[in-house]
Amino acid sequence: MRIEKYSMGIGDRFAHQGKAQLRAMLQAKAAGVEVVPVWNKSHREHTIIHTQPASVRAEADAAVAALGWGSSHYVDADHIGLKNVDLFLDASDFFTLDVADFTGRAAAEADIKAFVEKHSKYVGELAIPGLDETFHVTKRRVEEIAAKYLLAVREAGKIYRRVAGKKGEGNFVTEVSMDETDSPQTPEEMFFILAAVADENIPAQTIAPKFTGRFNKGVDYVGDVAQFAKEFEQDLAVIAFAIREFGLPANLKLSVHSGSDKFSIYGPIHEAITKFDAGLHLKTAGTTWLEELIGLASAGGEGLAIAKEVYANALGRFDELCGPYATVIDIDPEKLPSTRTVSGWNGEEYASALRHNPSCDAYNPNFRQLLHVGYKVAAEMGERYLNALKEFEEVIAKNVTENIFDRHLKRIFL
Ligand SMILES: [Zn+2]
Repeated sequence: MRIEKYSMGIGDRFAHQGKAQLRAMLQAKAAGVEVVPVWNKSHREHTIIHTQPASVRAEADAAVAALGWGSSHYVDADHIGLKNVDLFLDASDFFTLDVADFTGRAAAEADIKAFVEKHSKYVGELAIPGLDETFHVTKRRVEEIAAKYLLAVREAGKIYRRVAGKKGEGNFVTEVSMDETDSPQTPEEMFFILAAVADENIPAQTIAPKFTGRFNKGVDYVGDVAQFAKEFEQDLAVIAFAIREFGLPANLKLSVHSGSDKFSIYGPIHEAITKFDAGLHLKTAGTTWLEELIGLASAGGEGLAIAKEVYANALGRFDELCGPYATVIDIDPEKLPSTRTVSGWNGEEYASALRHNPSCDAYNPNFRQLLHVGYKVAAEMGERYLNALKEFEEVIAKNVTENIFDRHLKRIFL
């Protein structure tokens, strides 16, 4: 199983928008670019909503069949580790091995020594084709990188072998993710991490590093765009070089765990993948859920009532809902509208405060981030929420498709 050049990770918390999401990929296909869908849902999301991985598989397969998609699609066990991978073995064929907890924990001295010796030929001036600058690599530096990442890659190897033991080698796509670590990886680190991945015989097809800057959930990138663009190009060059040097899968590509909606870096990403003729996996978070709220609000009546209730409830449970996402959101509580204010809004006022249109004066990123993590409230509404999704399907689906096609696919891949 080899993932295509371009793919997009899409989340769908309540599993009702699979078709609306896939329609965006069909639009891209009609415009001449194939971007294959990867439905992703993390263990954290499943736990909060009380759903099972099998529901994601069912939704994905049903959407693909209903729309006659005709290309590949995947179901991603997102950010899994040894402790929860078993739950995803049947439903998933894409596994994002999360080893963030193991970075920075040193491997055994002898293992580090063996790694440094094995890769000693890269000590000195390391020139990477496609990059103007060379990297000055010392033995000490390789030791430091090994000390920081070797144990984590070994852990990824354990998870990989667990999955391969069950599903059979070659029957799934493997991603190695290190995006939820404290500091971004430098190009040299990326290079030696890939050496370790190859040593561990992990046939990684995508790798998700931590990039410079902040990737908060559902809102735009915060950071130095020029620096990001430079590092992104360096990573592409390092990957192309590492594939040849270490015999990694030829389709190995970068995976950007975007947290959704990093519009200001979409331009540089598009330019870089075009320049290097590189593939890309763009993983987004559950912003489809926000499009559900936008659709419900726009629909008015019971839809708007539900949207307002979700906000009022989320505001009252701020700490509880934000807790699990503390490192990936930045909400200024002072700038959150009061429940009273929101209760006076009409559907369009609610939708424009929430819709990610940075040039719109009414757009409120604080409101948006709180609702982003507020899906637990809708989950607790149970049938009432799900029935509203059915009742207002048309207006919701329109928002879901437009969001994915216009704001994401078009800007990155077309
Ligand atoms: Zn991630």
